[in-house]
Amino acid sequence: MNGDKKRKTIKTIKVDVDKCNGCQACEAVCSAFHATPKYSSINPARSRIRVIREPLKDIYIPVYAGDYTKAECTGRETYTINGKEYSECSFCRVACPTRDIFKEPDSGLPLKCDMCEGEEGGPLCVQWCVALALTYEEREEEVEEEVDREELEIGLESLVNEYGLEKIMDSVARMSMKD
Ligand code: SF4
Ligand code: SF4
Repeated sequence: MNGDKKRKTIKTIKVDVDKCNGCQACEAVCSAFHATPKYSSINPARSRIRVIREPLKDIYIPVYAGDYTKAECTGRETYTINGKEYSECSFCRVACPTRDIFKEPDSGLPLKCDMCEGEEGGPLCVQWCVALALTYEEREEEVEEEVDREELEIGLESLVNEYGLEKIMDSVARMSMKD
């Protein structure tokens, strides 16, 4: 018996870049679903899927937000696929310091795709993509036991990285004394 393994549902969105036409409907619905209150606004800058667009090269790449990192990577890759040359970072899903996507525009906190948690029909970007560039898939896998980090914790970590733990603790202490 393997005590530190557990069954986990792996959720993926398969992206067919050849089918994407850059319409950005996925960005619109994602930002609306995650607005507070839900569906109260549309702002692609708040979307957890962004379409990397280079219309002159007929390049449209839907990329959905992965993990946050405080450090930029030490190397960049470029790809040429079927004669199309893709820019650096085009396929990268990370919220990182070198670019503006996947950061909440007001707070700067990282955004991460949550597969539209709570939405019965599954990911909305998939449902709204009439070009069928996105396909949702699930599979079961046996994985190592891991501690799920909540959005709040990841957001706090990014604030600590930016301002330092002491400053954040001071702010929290000041806020708690206001009540
Ligand atoms: S909705 Fe589909 S076709 Fe439109 S930009 Fe998003 S992935 Fe591309
Ligand atoms: S699955 Fe949901 S949260 Fe993730 S990018 Fe698509 S619409 Fe946004």
